[in-house]
Amino acid sequence: MLKKTTRVLLLKHPYMQELLTVLRDKNTPCHVFRNYLEEMGIFIAYEISRDLDFEEITVKTPLGVASGFRLRDPVVLIGILRAALPMVYGMLRVFKKAQIGVIAARRIEEAGSRNNDFMVEIPYEREPDLNDKVVIIADPMIATASTIVRIISRIKGRWQPKKIIVAAIIGSKFGVERLIKEHPDVLLYITAVDEKLNEHGYIVPGLGDAGDRAFCTE
Ligand code: URA
Repeated sequence: MLKKTTRVLLLKHPYMQELLTVLRDKNTPCHVFRNYLEEMGIFIAYEISRDLDFEEITVKTPLGVASGFRLRDPVVLIGILRAALPMVYGMLRVFKKAQIGVIAARRIEEAGSRNNDFMVEIPYEREPDLNDKVVIIADPMIATASTIVRIISRIKGRWQPKKIIVAAIIGSKFGVERLIKEHPDVLLYITAVDEKLNEHGYIVPGLGDAGDRAFCTE
């Protein structure tokens, strides 16, 4: 069963905020954007690890025996294609043994939105067994939350994870509130929450289209 603990963790570490500023800057070249997104993945994963279960172990050092810790929770990283891919690579630096799932999801922007709710198509999905695992979903932009809300509902309908955590870079106030309302048992780790969404469902000031900027398709 999922634990009912509503939490949004706003990550205000100055170094992460410096990375975020470079991501926001429209003059940041795409290869730098991609590297910084990956680096954000490392630090967000490091913060998430505070919430996971570790077990005490002992190891033999060259001179004796020392006690220490090892991550007990099995972790699955789910990347929402495509913008999350660099983040997932970064997160793997912390969760080295993690299994990986991918979900291709697209807001159907041509159809417009109703009250900031977009229809979402999911043309491809591949994930391991998520039962009793810690499932960390990487989705850099929680704009209207249409995509993440749909994906979490889909996961909950099929599996019983131990915990679901969302790792994001920027959310809109609307999107974060919607995510918490629709999935109050999920933890959200995020580095900024911006005030506004524009008429196309993009976060303002945000950072633009994270997928285009990371994959140099602008
Ligand atoms: N997706 C993005 O990449 N950016 C936004 O602002 C909203 C959705």
